[in-house]
This record gives sequence, C-alpha cells and structure tokens, in this order.
Amino acid sequence: MEDNKIEAELKRKGFKITKTRVSLLKLFGKNFPPFSQKEIRNKLIKSGLVLNKTTIYRELAFLANEGFVSESDFGDGKKRYESSFKGHHHHLICKECGDIGEVVVKGDLKSIENEIGKRKKFEIKSHILEFFGICGKCIKNN
Ligand SMILES: [Zn+2]
Ligand SMILES: [Zn+2]
Repeated sequence: MEDNKIEAELKRKGFKITKTRVSLLKLFGKNFPPFSQKEIRNKLIKSGLVLNKTTIYRELAFLANEGFVSESDFGDGKKRYESSFKGHHHHLICKECGDIGEVVVKGDLKSIENEIGKRKKFEIKSHILEFFGICGKCIKNN
C-alpha cells in the first residue's frame, strides 16, 4: 500500500492510527520479503522508534487478523510477515544463503484443491506451499 493511503485505509476501517501501526504498514509497503518479528523490530528501531516485543507481537497479530499482512511459516519455528497486498504467492528458500525468493505458481492449484476436497470430503480454505533448495547465485558459487 502506498504511504498516503495507509492512514486513510485505517480510518476507513475505524482503526486507531498509532505511530507503531503506521510505521509497520509503511515498512510493509516497501515490498520487503517475509521477515521475522525480530527482524521487523530491528528495522523499526533503526528508524528511531522505541518498541517493546509485546507491542510488536500484538500489532502484527492485529494486522494479520485484519488482512493487512500475511504470515508464513518456513518450518524453522519463526513466523514471518509480509504485505498481503502482494497477492497470493509462494516462496523459494535457499538452504545455503537463506535468500527468500517469491514465485507465483502457474499450474492450477485450485483444481488440485477441488480434487482433494471431493476425494477426501474436505472443504479446503487455504494452503501453505513453500519450496526449499539452492538459489541460482549459490549454484554458481559451488
Ligand atoms: Zn543461495
Ligand atoms: Zn512473499
């Protein structure tokens, strides 16, 4: 979301405009890759904000709940957050350098979900799909 739209969007939804909230949304607006809570906190502290862990934790939970940010789990025990406005995509996580790329899956995941849903009599609402491997740079350097 663009900077000038953030406050308007919060107002429109009837949410409080706090310094932390706006700073977080601005950060997410910069199109950054999924970052952990700690990484996000460090970035905000660097920009001069004084923040404790609880505030960040609560605020991220709030923003995720309200659909501003989305959470990913790469199976390393850390939740990662990024802007929801990027649209649905998956990640390519490099096991060597930790680089996180993004990819939109071109195949029809929806039809896979439908097939599974029918076969298992299960109503699928969402899925998590991430890819782990070695990025192009690391392949070159090997
Ligand atoms: Zn790599
Ligand atoms: Zn992403």
